[in-house]
Amino acid sequence: MNKYSIFNLARQAKNYHQNWQAAWRSPEPKKHYDVVIVGGGGHGLATAYYLAKECGITNVAVLEKGWIGGGNTGRNTTIIRSNYLWDESAALYDHAVDLWGGLSQELNYNVMYSPRGVLHVAHSVHDLQEIGRRGNAIHLNGIKSKFMTPEEIVKMVPYMNLDCRFPVMGGLFQQLGGTARHDAVAWGYARAADALGVDIIQNCEVTGFDIKGGTVKGMATSKGKISADKVGVVVAGHCSVLADMAGFRLPIESFPLQALVSEPVKPCVDQVIMSNGVHAYISQSDKGELVIGASSDLYTSYTQRGGFDVIEDTLQAIVELYPALSRMKMLRQWGGIVDVTVDRSPILSKTPVDNLFFNCGWGTGGFKATPGSGHVFAHSIAEGNMHPYAAPFSIDRFNSGALVDEGAASAVAH
Ligand SMILES: Cc1cc2nc3c(=O)[nH]c(=O)nc-3n(C[C@H](O)[C@H](O)[C@H](O)COP(=O)(O)OP(=O)(O)OC[C@H]3O[C@@H](n4cnc5c(N)ncnc54)[C@H](O)[C@@H]3O)c2cc1C
Repeated sequence: MNKYSIFNLARQAKNYHQNWQAAWRSPEPKKHYDVVIVGGGGHGLATAYYLAKECGITNVAVLEKGWIGGGNTGRNTTIIRSNYLWDESAALYDHAVDLWGGLSQELNYNVMYSPRGVLHVAHSVHDLQEIGRRGNAIHLNGIKSKFMTPEEIVKMVPYMNLDCRFPVMGGLFQQLGGTARHDAVAWGYARAADALGVDIIQNCEVTGFDIKGGTVKGMATSKGKISADKVGVVVAGHCSVLADMAGFRLPIESFPLQALVSEPVKPCVDQVIMSNGVHAYISQSDKGELVIGASSDLYTSYTQRGGFDVIEDTLQAIVELYPALSRMKMLRQWGGIVDVTVDRSPILSKTPVDNLFFNCGWGTGGFKATPGSGHVFAHSIAEGNMHPYAAPFSIDRFNSGALVDEGAASAVAH
């Protein structure tokens, strides 16, 4: 694999950049793999990378029905934070924040992690109580953050209209929260996994599982049958479809979630600013586009679009909070399919089928967890037992009642 460096850039420039290797190979699938990962989003690719890098399992394939990163990974608004309420979530999401810090160096690929800070604003006494409780909880877990008064907020975000219909009464600011470039995360993991021997197979849809005596033996795909010792399914919005193929049900509902970006402008939004109360959040990409999102649509669907009413409500909230943006033109809108659990926490779990593992239920907020999720899922698959950070997120919690309720921390917020 070509190492990406200033020296190599200069060397390749002499040949008019004609000799760069493809970032990853496009092999035909083998008949058998030690581990097959279904789903070539960030979580699946990260799992394959850590399997090869840290667990010594390199006979691995990632099967992706479309193109890698074409699911939610390439459609999200890239917000990274770890200010969740419960210890179990703080451990998992903060593990990811730790890995984000060195990810570009680890992968030799610039994932553009930008810890610019994430501010949650409160619009009611209830909101203030919620961020107060959550802020204290994350402090106990050693996650740095601070409460902000309206006066402090207006100093940091002078263009925000605090005196709007639902006035801004305070905020919770996580300094190490921020953004990263979503496509680069998929491409970086794919390239690094490929270099360790992982086969990345695009346009290869899994259409059924081969299960004998309660153990998964392989799968039917649009490129033929493939056998595997272990299978990890990481297909986000389609996890119920794949669970159905394996003969069990998941407590998941899949909803469209939309986002939109404006025309590019000079740097003006320095942080990520989220408002659960009026249902809108905003940040600015390095290209200059304002990246805007809201809560999911109200109906379940597998379409990667969404309803116009959500866009209208979101933009009303944005204009109310930031009147200066009222004449910005919106350039693009799109949707993804998010997989939502009742407690708004993910599922990282063994399943009723032996050697078949599921990683899903990240809903509206899994991008931030990509490195941590892939890391703990790889170790869980390799060892056949769930990693301690993953164990609380088993499917069994929906029977036992040991839910990890992050409804307030997720809400509109991603
Ligand atoms: C509009 C929007 C905004 C969001 N904003 C944020 C945010 O700001 N911060 C945040 O943390 N999270 C956010 N999220 C959520 C985040 O994008 C997801 O939780 C995360 O990207 C999930 O990654 P993944 O790798 O599990 O899934 P995906 O990237 O969706 O990958 C799953 C892959 O599985 C493939 N697949 C499906 N079925 C099959 C099959 N039968 N065979 C083979 N392959 C199959 C799909 O094609 C897809 O590529 C947002 C999501 C959306 C839609």
